[in-house]
Amino acid sequence: MPPHTSDTIAALATPPGQSALGVIRLSGPSSLSLLKAIFRGRGTAPTDQWPERRACLGWIRDPATGHPLDQVVLVPYPSPRSYTGEDMAEITCHGSPVSLREVLALLLRSGARLAGPGEFTQRAFLNGKLDLAQAEAVMDAIGAESAAGLSVAIGQLEGRLSSRLAPLRTSLLEVQARLEAAIDFPDEIEEPSRGDLCGTISQVMGEAERLLKTAESGRLYREGALVVICGRPNVGKSTLMNALLREARAIVTSIPGTTRDILEEPLTLGGVPLRLVDTAGLREADNPVEREGVERARAALEAADIAVVVLDRSEPITEADRHVYIAAMGREALLVANKCDLPPAWDVSSLLALLAGPEPEPPKPMVVEAALGAGWGLEAVERALEGMLEAKALPPGGVLVSNLRHKAALEACAAHLAAALRTLDDGYPLDLLTVDLSAAARQLGSITGDTVTEDVIMAIFSRFCVGK
Ligand code: GDP
Repeated sequence: MPPHTSDTIAALATPPGQSALGVIRLSGPSSLSLLKAIFRGRGTAPTDQWPERRACLGWIRDPATGHPLDQVVLVPYPSPRSYTGEDMAEITCHGSPVSLREVLALLLRSGARLAGPGEFTQRAFLNGKLDLAQAEAVMDAIGAESAAGLSVAIGQLEGRLSSRLAPLRTSLLEVQARLEAAIDFPDEIEEPSRGDLCGTISQVMGEAERLLKTAESGRLYREGALVVICGRPNVGKSTLMNALLREARAIVTSIPGTTRDILEEPLTLGGVPLRLVDTAGLREADNPVEREGVERARAALEAADIAVVVLDRSEPITEADRHVYIAAMGREALLVANKCDLPPAWDVSSLLALLAGPEPEPPKPMVVEAALGAGWGLEAVERALEGMLEAKALPPGGVLVSNLRHKAALEACAAHLAAALRTLDDGYPLDLLTVDLSAAARQLGSITGDTVTEDVIMAIFSRFCVGK
């Protein structure tokens, strides 16, 4: 496919600020001719003998003054064997913000324009180097905050999701073509049998549903599971947060109400990334700062994937404990009976009854005994959390749908296929199937970008960083 655009773009591909090296990228038809005027390889002729896709040490000079701006390593990538499919070059400069600014400014004066967000990857997509799901994976890989999140993104970049979707879309398009041929040429082409149609549609729908089932895991790997530590003041929430993080992140004191805002820290447990949140104790607060903290705690709890309810075993269960327990119900919860080093005020076997009255609703949350301040019980809490996380998240080795746009498209695809199956079941004429079949195929194509509007493409790439 010929390169799609006519202008040449340039951008800094590495973060701004001081570093050992910084990389500037160029892409577009005049990338290489523009460099010929400003780059001279060490000891080599200035022009056509640059080895393709090989590093070439030399100087960037401002042709107006003849002054060298920086000693750089240039890698030229002539079209089509480049990331974008266009003529491209990467210039590795010294990582001084001044040097990078000067070289970039010279490129802009020489005819390039500053790239917009994601424009390199957008060009790669438009030139057929990547499909849309792979282009989105580039962004996910850059933004990954855990090894597991990165592994999901790299799987998608490799094309694992795209290669699962392609045969589904092909099946639907083939069925559609057979139906249309039978409608257009009823005397020559036989209608496909209802049994065959039902078989193919059900198979594609089953596969779409299997992929959809991975979306929850995909979200966990992409965003991290939200694990919210809650409890009334002074039960040991901050002690638990610090113990899980192996550092004194939250302030621990015996004064109730010390944690006034929510603290969030990343952590990985059982291979699953999580966002660990320590909340202000949930209690009626008089102080407006503490009240705001309590409100934020409630909001975090509402969004939590797992709530860890901490209780003080050395004190009787209070109305405030019940309040927290009820607020945490409705999501997966782990109860930590803390301060077991002190004389107990209640028995663990009667805890659920104490919290929720005589008949607690299933599913019963797990209870772990600990004395986190005294240094025991942390492993049991970690094991319990790992078990809960593993049950929620499939391992990231296979195909995981991690992108909300892809999930929405798969849901819409499955809904159209369900409607097509109803049309078959109800004995309606087969030509009525074509609307739903083509809509389902379009939804699958929108994931890989085969059937996608310009607006969607613009919206996706505008979320990229400049230089990618
Ligand atoms: P939070 O308000 O729920 O975050 O509770 P903190 O983590 O700040 O702890 C409140 C107080 O309880 C502090 O003085 C801790 O040292 C103490 N504490 C925490 N865990 C234990 C424990 O297992 N045993 C005992 N005896 N004290 C603890």
